[in-house]
Amino acid sequence: MLAKEMDAYISGGSAVRAMFEEGTRLAAIYGRENVYDFSLGNPNIPAPAALNDAIRAVLDEEESTFVHGYMTNAGYPDVRLAVAEDLNRRFGTAYTDANLLMTVGAAGGMNIILRTLLDPGDEVLVFAPYFSEYNFYVRGAGGVIRPIPADPATFQPDPEALRAAVTPRTKALIVNNPNNPTGVVYSEETLRAVASVLTERAEAVGHAIYIISDEPYRELVYDGAVVSWIPNLYPNTVVCYSWSKSLSIPGERLGYLCIPDACEDFPVIFDAAVVVSRALGFVNAPSLIQRAVKRVLSAQTDIAAYDRNRRALYDGLTALGFRTARPEGAFYLWVQTPGGDDVAFAAKAAEHRILTVRGSGFGCGGYVRLAYCVSHDMILRSMDAWKDLAKEYNLF
Ligand code: PLP
Repeated sequence: MLAKEMDAYISGGSAVRAMFEEGTRLAAIYGRENVYDFSLGNPNIPAPAALNDAIRAVLDEEESTFVHGYMTNAGYPDVRLAVAEDLNRRFGTAYTDANLLMTVGAAGGMNIILRTLLDPGDEVLVFAPYFSEYNFYVRGAGGVIRPIPADPATFQPDPEALRAAVTPRTKALIVNNPNNPTGVVYSEETLRAVASVLTERAEAVGHAIYIISDEPYRELVYDGAVVSWIPNLYPNTVVCYSWSKSLSIPGERLGYLCIPDACEDFPVIFDAAVVVSRALGFVNAPSLIQRAVKRVLSAQTDIAAYDRNRRALYDGLTALGFRTARPEGAFYLWVQTPGGDDVAFAAKAAEHRILTVRGSGFGCGGYVRLAYCVSHDMILRSMDAWKDLAKEYNLF
């Protein structure tokens, strides 16, 4: 008999499945090329050639039992050191391999650090709208997720709302920058204000409050936007990174946790996180891709292609009267739904063969998320359908 706990998991998953089925149904009727699917955040740009070359070179040059073998649970020490040195070059830090734990993507890293930090009933704050999988991660770690209401004027974090949300049970704040689902990049000014509120509130409640900075979109920024290194603003920060998006390798499952010395209870929490990684059954991050990524740490996917999509979609929709948050990062556009009801809007859009994800799934109704990691051609082809949809809502 299914565990009772699973009810909550299944109901979350069924919305995604329903959307997938809707896409399949529409494609069968109208043809795949006449369905405009903006629902999936799956990179559509191939991984850089340098990465594929590096994989071949690892296989040719490194010893097989080493490349395919177990290693220390935290990951290969030389890979961790190379990542640490890369961060030091970029952010003026002084990390070593002792600060880096290689993980099974950001999802693996988030699950590890939440399990490492949370006691049952501990609260984890997150700025709405937020990546809905956090619900699973926090719940799975025995915690309680507490969304902080959005500031709809900018979708930047609201420091005063943060101040009001901290309670004696608050253990951590998840910050996701650049943001899924809004595509907003948090300004350094806002993050400094967040750091200052959190420092003050941690002092008031009498224990550490960690920032967990989830940054799988760190390298996907446009218009010269800068992604701040949060540990330099708030020392009690654990960074969770992933190469899923920056190298277009989500299926390879590689990321890291960076736990700086300045984190409260370092190195105990680092050692505990390594044990948690085993307890969760990860054992270690995938081996071959660790060896390969070490060789191409400065490579990245073709950001210009995403930027071109971003401009085409943003310009096209705003010209039709749609309103969006300022899209400077990741590959998402966060569109206000005319009429306010995102569920009704997503259903109406589907009638026009446009597939979106409704904002209420991210803890913020009244918006839909569009993923523009799609073919440029599909964006151009979708514009007539968007125009018909805009007409229905009298946007122009
Ligand atoms: N965090 C956010 C905000 C994401 O959008 C995703 C994936 O889409 C993840 C974490 C998980 O990424 P990974 O593939 O590295 O596990």
